[in-house]
Amino acid sequence: PAPGSAAPAAAPASNVTMGAVPATGRLNATFVTLARNSDLWDIADSIRQVEDRFNRNYHYDWVFLNDREFDDDFKKVTTALVSGKTHYGTIAKEHWSFPDFIDQDKAKAVREDMAERKIIYGDSISYRHMCRFESGFFFRQPLMQNYEWYWRVEPSVKLYCDIGFDPFRVMAENKKKYSFVISLYEYAETIPTIWDSAKKFMKQYPEHIAEGNSMKWLSDDNGESYNHCHFWSNFEVGNLNWLRSDAYIDFFETLDRDGGFFYERWGDAPVHSIAAGLLLKKEEIQFFDDIAYWHVPFTHCPTSEKKRLENKCACNPKDNFDWKGYSCTTRWFDMMGMEKPAGYQDQKD
Ligand code: GDP
Ligand code: MN
Repeated sequence: PAPGSAAPAAAPASNVTMGAVPATGRLNATFVTLARNSDLWDIADSIRQVEDRFNRNYHYDWVFLNDREFDDDFKKVTTALVSGKTHYGTIAKEHWSFPDFIDQDKAKAVREDMAERKIIYGDSISYRHMCRFESGFFFRQPLMQNYEWYWRVEPSVKLYCDIGFDPFRVMAENKKKYSFVISLYEYAETIPTIWDSAKKFMKQYPEHIAEGNSMKWLSDDNGESYNHCHFWSNFEVGNLNWLRSDAYIDFFETLDRDGGFFYERWGDAPVHSIAAGLLLKKEEIQFFDDIAYWHVPFTHCPTSEKKRLENKCACNPKDNFDWKGYSCTTRWFDMMGMEKPAGYQDQKD
């Protein structure tokens, strides 16, 4: 709808059958945020961004998840800010704890070693539970079972342009399953053996590997080694049924069993990215150039000035990360055979 226009006549989500795309109105979709009670004011900022730039015209629901119970203040403030319905879930213990096959002494030694080597979050137990939860469990929470699509939102993110279209609809109508706005190289020290596990999975489950996948984006030597490219998962719009599929679950379980969430510090970003890169056709992954986004310390700002002006963007194009040396988005465009926008050369480092 035009900015400032009334909400589109939204069909109630319950009218939507799985897999079908309704002609008008909302899809069966929700925002989802994992947060602590102490994240309240940082997530309040993010919600205002999302509402002002998009959701005030759509009124999608918002699911909040926490390993502890949300307090009344958190619920009161976020419910007032979200224009759709809000739901609050407490994560079951078994989705936020050490599996019994993890050797506690070994895991502790790793944390101490990583602390000494000053690896970011290397000494943190809660960060590891968070990464494992986002990798394998958020989409299986009872509250998420009602939905087919999700949009992940973290505290303290910014949206810089009006989003005058429905990203869920774009995904559904174009048969997309996963999306990104920023991609980059992962810190090698956090994932030394993740590719060994991925290779084990490929060998064990050849039936899950998609024809026409994005292996070329993940590996420079035909799958022998990982080049560390990943989609930044603090922003995601994706399909929950894909994450709940046998293919994804088999992938997650293979990685989980190898223990790297605790014996290393595997992030959910490389886990989701390797899964998307192997299990999906490359055309099922969407790059949302029109969603201008910031999560510390990187910005995605559309390269095209026309887009920035039309969509009331407030980002500085000089900050756009897409074409910088540490971004993997150039490689994505090259693999997809997509034409880079005019002026991209001026935005390299
Ligand atoms: P970073 O973006 O990798 O620096 O990590 P964040 O600190 O932003 O954490 C990622 C997401 O997980 C955010 O949505 C946080 O609010 C959430 N999160 C991180 N740790 C915890 C935790 O211990 N409990 C809960 N409930 N949420 C957490
Ligand atoms: Mn974050």
